[in-house]
Amino acid sequence: MPNHSTFSKNRHGRFRESNTFRWVFDKVVGACMAAGLVKGEGFAVDASIIEAEAGSKLAMPGDEPHVWQNPAHCKRAVREYLEGLDSEAPGATIPKRISLADPQSSWTAAPGGPAFFAYSTNYLIDVAHGVIMDVEATPAHRTAEVNSTKLMVDRVETNFNITPQRLIGDTAYGTAAMLAWMVNEKAIEPHMPIWDKTERKDGTFSRSDFKWDAQANEYRCPNDKALRCDRRPFKTPRSSITKADTIVYRASQHACENCTRKSECCPNTPMRKIARSIHEDARDVARKIAKTKQYQQSRCERKKVEMLFAHLKRILRLDRFRLRCLTGASDEFTLAATVQNLRRLAKLTSPSLIFSGIVAPAACGIG
Ligand code: SF4
Repeated sequence: MPNHSTFSKNRHGRFRESNTFRWVFDKVVGACMAAGLVKGEGFAVDASIIEAEAGSKLAMPGDEPHVWQNPAHCKRAVREYLEGLDSEAPGATIPKRISLADPQSSWTAAPGGPAFFAYSTNYLIDVAHGVIMDVEATPAHRTAEVNSTKLMVDRVETNFNITPQRLIGDTAYGTAAMLAWMVNEKAIEPHMPIWDKTERKDGTFSRSDFKWDAQANEYRCPNDKALRCDRRPFKTPRSSITKADTIVYRASQHACENCTRKSECCPNTPMRKIARSIHEDARDVARKIAKTKQYQQSRCERKKVEMLFAHLKRILRLDRFRLRCLTGASDEFTLAATVQNLRRLAKLTSPSLIFSGIVAPAACGIG
């Protein structure tokens, strides 16, 4: 009889670098593809938060000097966290609260709910039959979740030679940089609402009231005056791109002062300014797609990934981790996604469905 600790010791030690769970996951995805369950036309992406094996009692403020004086005497989860800190970029943000039991987990909260330590699971699914094409564990941060999309899309491309025609997501994925990556680098249609804060709610003109003239590189205001980015002459030429990756277009102060519509446009400033993202062309592509019928269809298909998360938590009961640190979260998420794909494979390739024509018999090796 092996000792119970043999399994965990092997998982953390001997087989940590073997990537066995990932290998099994990829094999199951391959089986789903062979069964004709993957179309590769539309993918959907989303993230869900799962509570870490770290109670709030063992928490301390992130900016306090840590109690881990000698890493050699720390538990594995703390050692992995400390090793990660050494490779982290200088200037990384200090977390608000940190868990002494699992310091890689993030202190987070659902809107209106209590805060807790957690990780995020990120799914990239094929919307045809809801097969999970890739899974990635990240800290429960919006930025980490969004960035994992690029990793998953690239990995599916490398492993299975599939790049989707459209990618479906919620507003979190509609940032300008993300849209530019999809449209310009990957030629993927972004089927997601764009992250847009330009609409004004105080009754003054919004950015959509200004017309963009790409050839002249300027906006035209409702009073047909130009807003330009090169109004200010500088002795030494400088980049007009701001830290937020935008270019600021300004109206002439003289024109605005004498304008009859100033109270509707910029009542509190001498002239009107508009910040245009350097990725605005990609945002325009997403705006156009949002008016199509296929986009409405994509909004419905996005629910498939949410249903998988509901199944993960309610049926598979993965609402709290058993393992600690990001590698533990990654192991549990990969195993859970493998199980969900196996269930999907078993369900959709059952004889009754094959004969009713949902799955092609030849794709299942029958007939
Ligand atoms: S206030 Fe300036 S920018 Fe606004 S409509 Fe008048 S001229 Fe155009």
